[in-house]
Amino acid sequence: MGLMRIVVLAGGVGGARFVRGLREAVRRAPAGSELADASIDVIVNTGDDWWLAGLRITPDLDSMLYTLSGQNDEVRGWGRVGESERVSGELQAYGVTPEWFTLGDLDLGTHIARSAWLREGLTPSDVVARLHDRWDLGGVRLHPATDHEIDTHVWVASDTGAEEDMHFQEWWTRYRAQVPALRFEQRGVERATPSPGALAALSAADVVLIAPSNPVVSIGTILGIPGMRDAVLAANAPIVGVSPIIAGSAVRGMADACLTTIGVATDAAAVARHYGSRSEAGLLDAWLVGVEDESLVAELRADGIAAAAVPLWMRDLDTAAALAEATVEAAR
Ligand code: GDP
Ligand code: CA
Repeated sequence: MGLMRIVVLAGGVGGARFVRGLREAVRRAPAGSELADASIDVIVNTGDDWWLAGLRITPDLDSMLYTLSGQNDEVRGWGRVGESERVSGELQAYGVTPEWFTLGDLDLGTHIARSAWLREGLTPSDVVARLHDRWDLGGVRLHPATDHEIDTHVWVASDTGAEEDMHFQEWWTRYRAQVPALRFEQRGVERATPSPGALAALSAADVVLIAPSNPVVSIGTILGIPGMRDAVLAANAPIVGVSPIIAGSAVRGMADACLTTIGVATDAAAVARHYGSRSEAGLLDAWLVGVEDESLVAELRADGIAAAAVPLWMRDLDTAAALAEATVEAAR
């Protein structure tokens, strides 16, 4: 058996936990097995990216970077470990950044480096490659989904009833997704194309995995880039998704608010139907639900989606690795 090339579509925190588990599953696989020889390329959501204080901030890519390099704050669940916020206090005092968005000092170092490189003319893909050079990601390669800016804006009803929009980060962080979203807009997406690294990874893929990430503002954004969906389907590879919904609730985060906006129930089967069966012009060859949702397996199979129930909670490295292994197994 040759090298098994695994490509993962992923958002930030949920995606990073999954990819870290996948890397661990590869490390633990017995020598000579197919999984032991696997490579991992991750196509990361860039819809949450934004400009703040003159800096380009890429939350999902940074969650991946910090988690895979062991720099992440496990307790808080995001950002760098051992972080301080002295600079952010200054920026807030000047009114340059809002009080609801704090930037850690170490994290700011990454944003300043990224912004400097972008100003020198590097593409976002080039920037990710440079960040790779510093951190050891254990062989995992990260690719921004696109090099174009496609920042997500959220349309809401104002007090006067008129529609107004705000950047996704304001809706998510300031309002905790509690203001009903009328719709999401990927600003500039019509001009976007998949990044070169994403296309190259997909064209060589043996397995494509959809991480248990937000189906709307993480995976939905990636698939909404013109050409991405076709590139995923054109890969000569099974496509297996992992449900981010367990027993009718979004495990961590507020994915339910996003699903409500696009009219999809917060339910593992509803998300699978939203992605669709590949046999009926959808995406999925197989879908993993939680053991809590075992009763959904039969109805999904009737809909042409090969489903299986496995433990979906990624509590630690062991459970995440077991889930990743089950996902690769389902692809076989
Ligand atoms: P974000 O970009 O940081 O919001 O992260 P993602 O889009 O990658 O993933 C967020 C989603 O991951 C959450 O809304 C949950 O639905 C899902 N999630 C988080 N932890 C787990 C877990 O342990 N198991 C599963 N199956 N899903 C999870
Ligand atoms: Ca995100």
